[in-house]
Amino acid sequence: MVLRLVFLGPPGAGKGTIAQRLCDSRELVQISTGDLLREEAAKGTELGNKVKAIMESGAYVDDSLVSELVENKLRELGEKGFILDGFPRTGEQAEMLEGILNKLGLKLNAAIDIEAGDQTIVERLSGRRSCRQCGKIYHVKNIPPKKEGKCDVCGGELFQRDDDKPDVVKTRLETYREKTAPLIDYYKGKGLLKVIDADGEIGENMANVETELEGIENA
Ligand code: ADP
Ligand code: ZN
Repeated sequence: MVLRLVFLGPPGAGKGTIAQRLCDSRELVQISTGDLLREEAAKGTELGNKVKAIMESGAYVDDSLVSELVENKLRELGEKGFILDGFPRTGEQAEMLEGILNKLGLKLNAAIDIEAGDQTIVERLSGRRSCRQCGKIYHVKNIPPKKEGKCDVCGGELFQRDDDKPDVVKTRLETYREKTAPLIDYYKGKGLLKVIDADGEIGENMANVETELEGIENA
């Protein structure tokens, strides 16, 4: 069965890490709007610089820009399954996604809300490191690379994102609570919501996600 999923949940709950692992074990493509926007920011264009400044402040980038990036990706994918990691993040984006999926004749199977408490979030974000070359996510304590500062997969340099520094994390959490948390009720209303408690360690969280996915596949 081809799965089409949305991942919700606060920054640092592990959406990206879980999505990456599921894409290794299943035929799924991860669409991370954070990654797409960081690529845009790295271009150094006028638009890129604007995106970069917004991301470094902990606010959200313009709905229509993000939707356009997602629509392009979804068109490329055709019939493949996907995980939308970090999209939609506003009511407006959720409506835009409906429009895109209708146009493409596709349907979501579930919206998975990956939850973790504030203390866990701050601890995870402050220790997060990402590979500059392939984007793989590590954590200095919980998921350390074999060789300090180097990616296990490609040998790329690991770095800390500017928006993972403590003062920006606080703003990101506030932005999430105000703008994105309401989407939990939105997807609940559509009968698509699944909630995962991701406060524990990664192996346990993966097992819980797998159980939910098997439930969806066997329904
Ligand atoms: P996290 O989920 O840990 O916050 P991401 O890498 O997904 O990290 O996102 C980083 C930043 O990229 C966000 O704080 C926001 O500025 C921007 N961003 C990502 N996805 C969206 C989106 N769907 N809408 C608006 N801004 C977004
Ligand atoms: Zn790498």
